[in-house]
Formats: sequence, C-alpha cells, structure tokens
Amino acid sequence: MTDPTTIDKNTDISDLSATIQDYLSLIYVMERDEEPIVGAKLAELLEVTPPTVANTLKRMTRDGLITMDKKGTHLTERGWDAARVVMRRHMLMEWMMVKTLPWSKLHEEAHQLEHAISSMAEEALDEQLGNPKTCPHGNPLPGFEDVVKDWIPLSELEVGQKVIIRRIHELAEENAPLLSFLAENKVLPNTEATVSEVLSFNETITIEVNGQPVSLGNISAQYIFVELRD
Ligand SMILES: [Zn+2]
Ligand SMILES: [Zn+2]
Repeated sequence: MTDPTTIDKNTDISDLSATIQDYLSLIYVMERDEEPIVGAKLAELLEVTPPTVANTLKRMTRDGLITMDKKGTHLTERGWDAARVVMRRHMLMEWMMVKTLPWSKLHEEAHQLEHAISSMAEEALDEQLGNPKTCPHGNPLPGFEDVVKDWIPLSELEVGQKVIIRRIHELAEENAPLLSFLAENKVLPNTEATVSEVLSFNETITIEVNGQPVSLGNISAQYIFVELRD
C-alpha cells in the first residue's frame, strides 16, 4: 500500500513521450493489481501489434522505467514514480471535463489532455477539485488504494443482494463500447442496484437499476465493483 504523503509528486516526466506514458499507466494498473504484465495483453489494450509492444518495452528497460527478466516485467522505482504522475494527471483531467463531456467520453479525452499539463497546473487543479481520492469511474488516485479495497466485483454476487455501484475498473475504461453501454443503462458509480438473476451456465448476471434490468457478461461484471448495502 502506498501512503499518499510519501509519494514524490515532483517526479519530472517531461522527457517521456505520450506513448511511453500510456504504457506506464497500463503497466501501473496491472502491477498494482498484481496481474502479470503480458505483452499480448498490452498489445490488445493499446491496439498495437505484439512486436511494437516488445520494442517499446525494450526502450523502457533501457530508460530505466521497467525491468524484464525471468521474474517477469516490473516497474522500477523511477517507473512507479513516473506512472503515478501520469495516473494522477489522467484522473484529474477526467474530473476537469466532468461537466463538459458525457461520462463515457471522459477517459478517452483525458488521454489526450494528460500529456499537456504541467505539475504546477496539476497541483492547482487537484486543490480546486477538492483533492479527489477516486476518478469519475471510481478508480483510486495513486496513494488512495485503501478507498476501494472493500468493494467487490459484481461477478461474485448472488441473487437478491443489494449493492451500490462504486467503480468501473481502469482496464474497462479502455473499452469505449462497454462504457457507452454502462452509461446508457445508468450502471454508474454511486448508483443503487439489486441482483435479479445469475445464470452461471450462461456466464451472465442481471441487475436491476432504477427498476430496469441490465444483463452483463461475467467478463464485464468482473470489472464493475460494488459496495454491499444491507
Ligand atoms: Zn481513465
Ligand atoms: Zn477514470
């Protein structure tokens, strides 16, 4: 667990290209969640070819951002510091646009903006926004991982359970059609829902949101985190 007060907010990332910053943010999420960092998964998420990923990872190794060996691919200390800056800027950019754009478009737009902001503007914005602990999708800003630790994936629920939707995981933010679907069906952070059907043979779960049934596949449901209501 990272203590937000010990995070070095002054890490300079101005020498890192937008591409490297995008890789860093995805690797950060995987490493934070203790998922193996696999080239094929990165290729899929970044919509590039596996050889492109391999080349970029090599460059990142050379630049001291990651290590790659038999133990797998991991962020170095410099990699962690840089990735935290990228993540925080991304999430602040999402909040900055929250009244301007539909919720489902925030992530994509923030990806464009996050590379342009200075650390001075970042700090001022953080303060103006009231030092948010999560992004508009419910994902934790670096150092605030504790906030989300008790929320459980929708895919683990049983019929009849009442929940509050809290978080759409970072990796699901990469999936624009999924975000649009969730927005259309009001499956959004801080919305109440009740599990109405679980078809394990079909790998689907249906929840009721505002009296409307919404069916999700388990693959999507595992990226949606909820808090139990009694
Ligand atoms: Zn995002
Ligand atoms: Zn977000």
